[in-house]
Formats: sequence, structure tokens, C-alpha cells
Amino acid sequence: MRALVVDDSRFIRNYLHSLFAEHGFECIEAGDGQQGLDCLRTSGPFTVALVDWNMPVMSGIEMLQAARADHAFDDTRIVMVTTEAENDHIEAALEAGADEYLVKPFDEAGLFDKLRMAGVAEL
Ligand SMILES: [Mg+2]
Repeated sequence: MRALVVDDSRFIRNYLHSLFAEHGFECIEAGDGQQGLDCLRTSGPFTVALVDWNMPVMSGIEMLQAARADHAFDDTRIVMVTTEAENDHIEAALEAGADEYLVKPFDEAGLFDKLRMAGVAEL
């Protein structure tokens, strides 16, 4: 299984990378939505992409919309990451084609619960 972590916070990327690695995922990191799209196109296929909402260059929702406009990525589960203060984002993310959403702050159990709910197999 392969995971793409898209977040402008190096701390969050490192944290997610270690959690995914512990669960047997190969993990690739991107620092903004444009880099994330580039990774989808050049380093895929990915089982799941975890996409932060607030990022420079291209936001998570813009990346999600671009990814869902391209049927090449239909098999990639996309989980949007937002903060509790931005709960109105959740509905927009699901409407734009996100499979699930994860609210910051989260822990290992919360992450993998959401991945199971998103239909990521073998968890
Ligand atoms: Mg961010």
C-alpha cells in the first residue's frame, strides 16, 4: 500500500510518515497542493492521499478538485485534513469528492479509523 501525504507542515508530514510506515505503507510527501498533484501524476498509483486544507501555492480543496476531475485517480482514496475551527470545510470537501475527512488534532487511532471508513483495504 502506498500513501501520499500533502501538508505544508514538515512536523505533520514527519508524524504521518512515521505512522504510515509503522503500518506497512510506503509514504511519499508533498509540501503543497501543486506538488501533491505532481506526485499523483508521476509517482502513483497511491492507495490513499491525505491532503491538508490550508497550504500555499495550491490549497487542499483545489488539489482535491483537480484530482477528482481526472479519472486516472479514481482508485485513490482521498482524505482531507482540516482543523476543528474549519468544520464548514467538511461538507465542501465531501461534495468535491473526498472519501473522508480528518480533523486536527488527531492521533494514530483517529487516523486509521478514518482510513478504514474511507475504504482503505487491509487495515
Ligand atoms: Mg497547512
